[in-house]
Amino acid sequence: MEFHHHLVNGLDLLQAEGFTDAGAVHAFSTRKGGVSTGYLSSLNLGPSRGDDPENVRENYRRFAAAVGVVLENVVLSHQVHQDNVRTCTMADAGKGLFRPRDYDADGLITDVPGLPLVIFSADCIPVLLYDPVRRAVGACHAGWRGTAMGIARKTVERMCSVYGCSPDNLRCAIGPGISRCCFETNADVPEEMRRVLGAEAEPFIDTLDNGKFKVDLKGINGYWLEKAGVSAEKIVISDDCTTCHPDIYWSHRITGFDRGVQAAVIQLVEEL
Ligand SMILES: [Zn+2]
Repeated sequence: MEFHHHLVNGLDLLQAEGFTDAGAVHAFSTRKGGVSTGYLSSLNLGPSRGDDPENVRENYRRFAAAVGVVLENVVLSHQVHQDNVRTCTMADAGKGLFRPRDYDADGLITDVPGLPLVIFSADCIPVLLYDPVRRAVGACHAGWRGTAMGIARKTVERMCSVYGCSPDNLRCAIGPGISRCCFETNADVPEEMRRVLGAEAEPFIDTLDNGKFKVDLKGINGYWLEKAGVSAEKIVISDDCTTCHPDIYWSHRITGFDRGVQAAVIQLVEEL
């Protein structure tokens, strides 16, 4: 399994092998191919970034068309840096874009074909999951707090408990986000990782000469997926660092709050 960039109608989409051809259309967005302007130029997929709602809807129309998901049914997460995972049904279709959200959720799961799950990131780590045997999908957002809470593992566990998925069958894609090269932190981040993971956190932490640290959030999310029983060869991790490439990706570390946001989407195809 690997990642590839695909240019579709001016959008630059990052997609992992082993998903779309096996029945789950999906993509990680970049900044490219939208209609938003100024510091939101151009593919802002965040409805609460101060963008013109018409521009956001047009961006979603383009994104949904390029990926092949059902626009009217998109279910948007409502991320609060916690580890809530919502079980989504057709009753949630359109929430966050066409209708208000009535939940907080950093993770979404469903077994309903045609119901696209959308999570957001702009340095944080987006994770998409697919079980091609039980036919269920999941998506979660892991900032450093969510990473410490193990939201990736919890999303797998919820897919198993709610849908009867087997971790053996899961395919997982950890998308573009801030990489070890750029995630310089104070002591609070490594301390929290060590509190939760003990010595198993050490391979993911560098101590710098300036007294700060670098932490590998993508690696820790991969670790959680393996702890949940997913086999390493079914976990693919994007090398793309959002902070290294602010021309391609929104990066909170580069621009602060004056920015758009990436979306990651996954949806079971309606007919195999
Ligand atoms: Zn970097």
